[in-house]
Amino acid sequence: MVRALVLAALLPAAATATIAHASGGQETAVPAAAAPAPTGERGKTTHKTGTQASTRFCRALARKLRTVSYSGCRALSLAPVGARSVQGRPLMIRRLDPTGPSHGRILFIGGIHGDEWAAVSLTYLWLHALLRHPDQLHHQWLFVPVANPDGLLRRPSRRTNAHGVDLNRNFPSPDWRQLAHSWWTRYKRRNPRYYPGPAPASEPETRYLVQLIHDWQPDVIISLHAPYNLLDYDGPEHAVPQKLGRLRLRQLGTYPGSLGRYAGEYLKIPVLTIELRSAARMPGKREIAAMQADLDRWIARTLHPPLAKAVGHPHKNDKMNPTTLTAERSEAP
Ligand SMILES: [Zn+2]
Repeated sequence: MVRALVLAALLPAAATATIAHASGGQETAVPAAAAPAPTGERGKTTHKTGTQASTRFCRALARKLRTVSYSGCRALSLAPVGARSVQGRPLMIRRLDPTGPSHGRILFIGGIHGDEWAAVSLTYLWLHALLRHPDQLHHQWLFVPVANPDGLLRRPSRRTNAHGVDLNRNFPSPDWRQLAHSWWTRYKRRNPRYYPGPAPASEPETRYLVQLIHDWQPDVIISLHAPYNLLDYDGPEHAVPQKLGRLRLRQLGTYPGSLGRYAGEYLKIPVLTIELRSAARMPGKREIAAMQADLDRWIARTLHPPLAKAVGHPHKNDKMNPTTLTAERSEAP
């Protein structure tokens, strides 16, 4: 709940613009030349390389999304993981560990679909909120804020990756070879937005997420999308949440190759899919706070509630800059 209030404080009350810079995603505000130079990052080559990757990534993101500032993105200390997108963009992550014992692992994935700007923006807001209060962390979090950077940074942005593959139909569910293409034909009339790819996990972005799930073994996966205005859940029966703010649970079922079918149904990991109301406008700050509070409750309930209050130490060295993201209200004018 405290985190929810902190999050609300991050949101400027008067901001009303849409998220992306112009409809085609042109570079308008926040040019690279105006961005501050990275500071205080010296030392090993790997660290330097990571810093350079973060610098480039944040510049590109700040040009694309109004809600993400360059300095705010840099403050997140995103790190490249070694994997790259089809067009060679490094996939970035941020891991957060509690100061006390961990009560579980939460993988947070934003931007699998490149044209769902609000999903990426909200992922950033939540990451910022968590970073501001490390003493409130009870779980290990791993954020992949932009799982499909090529789709997001394309002009205009698009759902699929640079190969034209819907990454959320490309996960290697056991039925992929039998059903992915027939479902695409039958239910989507071969709409290219939902193309599952030539083979399961054919795409580097998908392969990275699959590897991450395999190696890191998350207890819960949260995936942000838009604009279906609902909450979806796939996985073990006991963990079903009923709502997140105004989003209500409406289980749509899964598709061959979707994250829900692969991780939720096949691997039995709870997968919560948050479908925001709009792809281009953020929810209001009260709504975001309500969603956060419900999310906190669900996580506590799903991941060992009796232990949830046992940790937490004051952390005085909060180096994260709180004045970073500029989010917008969702209400259309
Ligand atoms: Zn989506």
